[in-house]
Amino acid sequence: MQTKILLDEGEMPKRWYNIQADLPRPLDPPLHPATGNVVTPDDLRHIFPMELIRQEMSTERYIDIPDEVRDILTLWRPSPLYRARRLEAALKTPAKIYFKWEGVSPPGSHKPNTAIPQAYYNREAGIERLATETGAGQWGSSLAFATGLFDMECTVYMVRTSYDQKPYRKSMMQVYGAECIPSPSPRTRSGRMMLERDPDTPGSLGIAISEAVEDAASHDNTNYALGSVLNHVCLHQTIIGQEAKQQLAAVDDYPDVVIGCVGGGSNFAGLSFPFAGEKITGKRPDTEIIAVEPAACPTLTKGLYAYDYGDVAGLTPIMKMFTLGHDFVPPAIHAGGLRYHGASPLVSRLAQDGVIRSVSCYQNEVFEAAVTFARTEGTVVAPEAAHAVKAAIDVALQCRETGEAKTILFNNSGHGNFDFSSYEAYFAGMLIDYEYPVELIKESLARLPVTG
Ligand SMILES: *Cc1c(COP(=O)(O)O)cnc(C)c1O
Repeated sequence: MQTKILLDEGEMPKRWYNIQADLPRPLDPPLHPATGNVVTPDDLRHIFPMELIRQEMSTERYIDIPDEVRDILTLWRPSPLYRARRLEAALKTPAKIYFKWEGVSPPGSHKPNTAIPQAYYNREAGIERLATETGAGQWGSSLAFATGLFDMECTVYMVRTSYDQKPYRKSMMQVYGAECIPSPSPRTRSGRMMLERDPDTPGSLGIAISEAVEDAASHDNTNYALGSVLNHVCLHQTIIGQEAKQQLAAVDDYPDVVIGCVGGGSNFAGLSFPFAGEKITGKRPDTEIIAVEPAACPTLTKGLYAYDYGDVAGLTPIMKMFTLGHDFVPPAIHAGGLRYHGASPLVSRLAQDGVIRSVSCYQNEVFEAAVTFARTEGTVVAPEAAHAVKAAIDVALQCRETGEAKTILFNNSGHGNFDFSSYEAYFAGMLIDYEYPVELIKESLARLPVTG
C-alpha cells in the first residue's frame, strides 16, 4: 500500500478553478465602506493591481497560472498527498484517511500559493512595496518570501499576541527581507486609535488589516495584499484541491468527506472548492464538506450571514459574509491564524446554501489530536491545521462505530515548527477552552453597518 502519492512537476495544474462560475446565484457584491454603493474596479485601484481586481470579480471557470508563477511554485509543488495509515491503525478505523501536506512550502504553509501570484501581479503593475497584516506570522513570512523573489519591499503588521508568542516568525520575515511591526502600532491612524482605546490590547487581524490598508492607501508605490478571505486568494489556493483530485484518481479513490480548518477560509477553499464545484453541479452530489473553526472564534457556527467590514476601522469594502462583528476581538488562542471575525464571502455563501457544514472545537481537544497525529504520522502540525486533524479523527472514530469505510481527505495546512510554545502550554495544562459568550457576539453584531 502506498504512503505518499506524488505528481511530477509537469502534472501541476496550469489553471486555477473559479467556483464563482458554478454558483447557482452570483455573489452579493461588495459595497463601498463610505458610500454603501456597489464597489467598482476603480474603487480598489489604490490598493490592488488591476489583474487581481479582475480575478476578484471574474466568473470564468478557469484562469491561467502565469508561467513565471508556475516556475516558482515548483520549488515545493506539486505537494504530496499522504495516506495516514499509521493514524488509521491507531484509531482502529475502517476509514481511509488522506491528507494534503502543505507544510512543504519554504515558509511552511499553504499561504505562498497566493503570495507568489499576488507579488507577481503587483510587480507587473509597477508596484515597489506591499503592506499586509499577519496573524500567526505564516502569511507575513509567505509574503516576505514572495516579495523577496520579485525584488520588492514588504511591510508586515503582525497581531501583537502572535508577535510576542512567535518571535521566530518575525525573524523569518527579516531573513526574507521584510519589516515586521507589532499591531496595533503608532505608525498608522487606525493603530493609534486602538492603542488609545486599550493600550494592552492583544490586537486582532481586523485591526492589523486596518493598519496595512491605511499604509497602502497613503503611499503611491505601495499596494495592499491579503492572505485570505478574498475571492482571488481562494482562487489561487485551488491548486491544492485540483492536485488532490488527480492524486486520489491515481489510486482510484474520491473523498466521501473533505475537511479543512477555517480562519478566513483560504486553505479550506483551496482544498474543497474543486470538490464543492462537482457537488453543486451534480457530478458528485454526496460529498460531505466540513469547515472546522475554534470555539473561541465561531464565525460560521455562531455568526450571522450579513454585510460587514473586513477590518475594525471600517476601511475595507463591506462584504456579505458570516461575521461575529467587525470589532469582535477574539481571545488570544494559540491558533492565531483562525482569529478572524469574518469568513470568505465564497465560503460563507456555500455555508449559507448548505453545500458545506461547519463544526467548532476547543483548544485542548485540538492539541490532543495534534499530539496523536505527531506520534503516528510524525509531523508536528500548526495549531490551525490541528483543527482539521481533530475533525478528521472525529469522522474516522464515527466510522469505527458505524463500520463505514469512508474516504476522508483533510488539508494539513502547515507545520508547527515555530509553535512549540503552544504545545508546551498544552502539556503544562495552561490552555483555556474559551467559548465566546453569545451575548458578546450579539453586542458586536448589533454594531453591523448595514443588514440584509
Ligand atoms: C493562516 C493559516 C490558516 C488559516 O487561514 P485560512 O485562510 O483560513 O486558510 C490555516 N492554517 C495555517 C497553517 C495557516 O498558516
